[in-house]
Amino acid sequence: MVYKSQSHKDTKSQDHKVTRSQGYKVVKSQGRCLRFIGLVFVLFCFMTTKITSADESQKIKVVATFSILGDWVQNVAGVDADVQILVGANSDVHTFEPTPREMKILQQADIILENGAKLESWLDDLYQSSQSKAERIEVIQGLNLIAVDHRDEDVHKKESHHHSDQDPHVWHDVALVIKIIERIDSELSDKDPIHASTYHANAQQYIQELKDLDVWITDQVKKIPPARRKLVTSHDSFGYFARRYGFIIIGAAVNSFTTEAFDPSAARIAQLISKVRSENVSAVFTENMFNNQLIKALADEAQVTLAPPLYSGALGETQSEGSTYIEMMKYNIKQITEVLK
Ligand SMILES: [Zn+2]
Repeated sequence: MVYKSQSHKDTKSQDHKVTRSQGYKVVKSQGRCLRFIGLVFVLFCFMTTKITSADESQKIKVVATFSILGDWVQNVAGVDADVQILVGANSDVHTFEPTPREMKILQQADIILENGAKLESWLDDLYQSSQSKAERIEVIQGLNLIAVDHRDEDVHKKESHHHSDQDPHVWHDVALVIKIIERIDSELSDKDPIHASTYHANAQQYIQELKDLDVWITDQVKKIPPARRKLVTSHDSFGYFARRYGFIIIGAAVNSFTTEAFDPSAARIAQLISKVRSENVSAVFTENMFNNQLIKALADEAQVTLAPPLYSGALGETQSEGSTYIEMMKYNIKQITEVLK
């Protein structure tokens, strides 16, 4: 059998050689033919370009509201969808002020993926004035969310209309992010069934990376003695992180789920300082997309270490240590374990 197929192969390759040498003769003898091949090549290139640009325009247009969500969507979409992000790196999604650029992106969108829990407080108005027909999907819908506790009166006095009933900062819990990836996979697949199998494969691969990340974080946290697993940050954004990985939130300089400006009362800041002291908190953390003046003053007053900024609600720029969601989480954990261990 083996011998037979081998001989068949040899015959074939001999045939091939004959055809090629004949071809060379023709080309040598007729210059016109060379020009013809050139023309065919140019035509071929032209057609290929046409096909590629047709493909581009057929891609579904997916909008993600902010950088972290944008990274997740990009991981699932791969090259098969056109992903646009409204609020970019190092920008605060809470206080974002839309421009004509975002208006235009919404107008052209097929589907809009948003966090929800009023993280994007500006989106309803923007969506309405853009007259977009795109479907809106809240990716955190149905997850086990943390309800607001109404401990902070400052928020109610000044910003009650922006007040949310649920903490929107789900991305600090990798187990919840895995559920969000499944949701993104199913939404993109519904909208664009031709690419469903690719979306699914991309999602599965990314979920595996997230599972590894979740295990890694749990291991890293073990370096910190349990009594020192206490967090104080600029605004109240690490609740899901604390719940998942076993930390206590002592407080935040701006004791609110949003970063919108208000002046916390002197009495409340004094209360937080005394809590930082009585709980033996060793460090307080700044955040990448937030004015950290208050937390700096607090660190000064309470005489505790002012730790480097954590990525709280936005990715860093492309070359930074927080340029992707996974990088951002690793960076945060390294800072937290380094300072608290
Ligand atoms: Zn926030």
